[in-house]
Amino acid sequence: MSIESSEKIHKKELKRFHYKVRPIERGYNDRTLYINLSNNEILSKPVTDQMKKLFIGGRGFDLWLLWNAIGEKTKWDDPENEICIACGPLGGNPLYPGSGKSIVVAISPLTQSVMDSNVGGYFGPYLKFAGWDALEIQGKAEDDAVIFIDGDEGVVTIESVERFPDNTHLLGEFLGKYYCEGNLKTISTVTAGLGAENTLMGCLNFSFYDTVRKTFRYKQAGRGGTGTVFRDKNIKAIVVKFSNITTDINNPADLDRAKKVGREYIKEIKELDPKQNEIYRVGTSYIVTIMNEFDLLPVKNFKFGNHPEAENLGKEVYRKKFHKGYDGCWIGCPLACAHTVKNFTLETGPYKGESVWVDGPEYETIAGCGSNLGIFDPDFLIELNFYCDTYALDTISFGTALAFVMECYELGLIDKKATGGLDLHFENKKAALEIIHQMAKGEGFGAIVGQGIKRMKDIFKKEYGSDTGTMQDIGMESKGLEFSEYITKESLAQQGGYGLALKGPQHDEAWLIFLDMVHNLMPTFEQKAESLFWFPMWRTWFGLNGLCKIIWNDVIPEDNSETPEPAKIMKHVQWYAEYFSAVTGEDAEPDDLIKMSERVYNFQRVFNLRQGFGKRKHDDIPYRAMGPVTIEEYKSRKDRYDKQLKELGILDPEGKSTEEKIKALRKYRESQYEKLKDAVYKRRSWTPNGIPTIEKVKELGIDFPEVIELISKHQ
Ligand code: SF4
Repeated sequence: MSIESSEKIHKKELKRFHYKVRPIERGYNDRTLYINLSNNEILSKPVTDQMKKLFIGGRGFDLWLLWNAIGEKTKWDDPENEICIACGPLGGNPLYPGSGKSIVVAISPLTQSVMDSNVGGYFGPYLKFAGWDALEIQGKAEDDAVIFIDGDEGVVTIESVERFPDNTHLLGEFLGKYYCEGNLKTISTVTAGLGAENTLMGCLNFSFYDTVRKTFRYKQAGRGGTGTVFRDKNIKAIVVKFSNITTDINNPADLDRAKKVGREYIKEIKELDPKQNEIYRVGTSYIVTIMNEFDLLPVKNFKFGNHPEAENLGKEVYRKKFHKGYDGCWIGCPLACAHTVKNFTLETGPYKGESVWVDGPEYETIAGCGSNLGIFDPDFLIELNFYCDTYALDTISFGTALAFVMECYELGLIDKKATGGLDLHFENKKAALEIIHQMAKGEGFGAIVGQGIKRMKDIFKKEYGSDTGTMQDIGMESKGLEFSEYITKESLAQQGGYGLALKGPQHDEAWLIFLDMVHNLMPTFEQKAESLFWFPMWRTWFGLNGLCKIIWNDVIPEDNSETPEPAKIMKHVQWYAEYFSAVTGEDAEPDDLIKMSERVYNFQRVFNLRQGFGKRKHDDIPYRAMGPVTIEEYKSRKDRYDKQLKELGILDPEGKSTEEKIKALRKYRESQYEKLKDAVYKRRSWTPNGIPTIEKVKELGIDFPEVIELISKHQ
């Protein structure tokens, strides 16, 4: 819909709230914004010093707000569930690389537990500049609602709207023009689309206006169905407006110190990225080739780790397809990984024949919706990426769920009766696109796929008598969340990186495959457990502060390999500590940063426990993540597996059937995984059932009476 036809839309103001926009102090506004859509209440809540000390900001603030807002029985679609969005004290400074992140937290429709999802775009910084350290939305609107936060005027409104466009590429453009008062750059929006409305894997699109391409572009808070919660609350959009960005807007305690470390970091990235991964040109597509080379690229539902056609999805192909120009998802990001395809003509769906900009694809989309479906067509991926984004579907959950379905279909666990006549063999591009359009409409077999793997296993069992054991082994979900796109069979540490991740199997907590499998740097359980302590804590820290993780380890200092712990890239960690100290005025060393995360991390584990999860059994993963499930899979890497059986003294493979060898290997690998859990829980000071000890929560200062009462029942 164009702005010219906006007279057709209808908008009614339900509530108006005035506030004073005041200067940010050392990265904080010291207040959060609460909105209840059931009764149109809008409140400003204070941020206390204790809240800053214990939870820092970003994901920490989101978790604290949600914890206080809901009860142990709250379900994802209860009105009391919230969507919390926050940037962080360090977010928003254009002079420090990767400062534009927001974190979204809610109870997830896929996992029924606490979900956190990070995202770029301008919304988080603008929300903060508009005066709010976090936004907390509770309740459900009666009709479609827009929340408009005008950070120029100091006004928040809730508006009931009709006939606004449904899908993001139209809605975002429309909202920008509608609310901007002439300067599109001043607007950022959060929107979803029909896919979020009609599935459980809806994502949220956060916009930024690209002044060179003259179009709005989008980054996704992909994981766990937060877009579905958003539409369940009848939120059509959140719009924030802010005009007056300056480089000292965070008002750091020591501006010169903050500028100095920012300059140094930016200089290094600009110098080294062109020599290393060229992310500024090819984005994360560079990862495809590397994963393929090391047998880590998911192919056909994680059965295999490489494919001769993988280069069709590699960086040289996308180098040509990406439009040249600056692609930072926040002002000044020197890595600028957020690439776009210009004038892509769509071949299917409601926008068939239209020429559009497409944001991406990034590695996870390429691997999840490409190689993992057995499809190696770069243009197919661009089309699918476009529709996932505009419908607001998480490309990771979509790809992994469809890969599961395709394998079920090939194994005869479901047939055309189940799929509504669709031939869902791997490699079928047409069928994959048809599924995505069905998901957006909530129709046909797409509506089932949109429920996610966990529910599909139940549905297939109930409706078609499909074998539960096989589905359990090949259904790549844990805690109800679909796996992100790496093969973990040969890395026990990364199996833990996925299985022990708080929200479910997403690589943003720990990515240890190379250190473990390729470099063999953690041969003992204790060493693996140490890595599964430090890396998840460190990676959590970015989400507390509004910063982007890619910056830390996708460009490596030239002398890094000569440092005592090259995997940690301590030169960068030291810069982050320096920057934190400069902005907040609180002197911090690298160990202090880890402690900040450890508090929030343990709190989130306790939060999961309160919602009925967060125990040892919830950290289980399907056997496909540990080893070969099928004969075909074993035979494809027979030499490797036979050698291991022999060298580890598990079984002499000579003269044994493949079934016998699979069984023996499985017994061994499953027992290794349980031993890993023991070691990690011990390192984290958790009980053997995976629950933080009373001593630990006391040491961390999160020993609130309700926390102690809760964990006391489980010690
Ligand atoms: S590295 Fe990429 S995702 Fe991170 S802030 Fe820069 S452009 Fe955004």
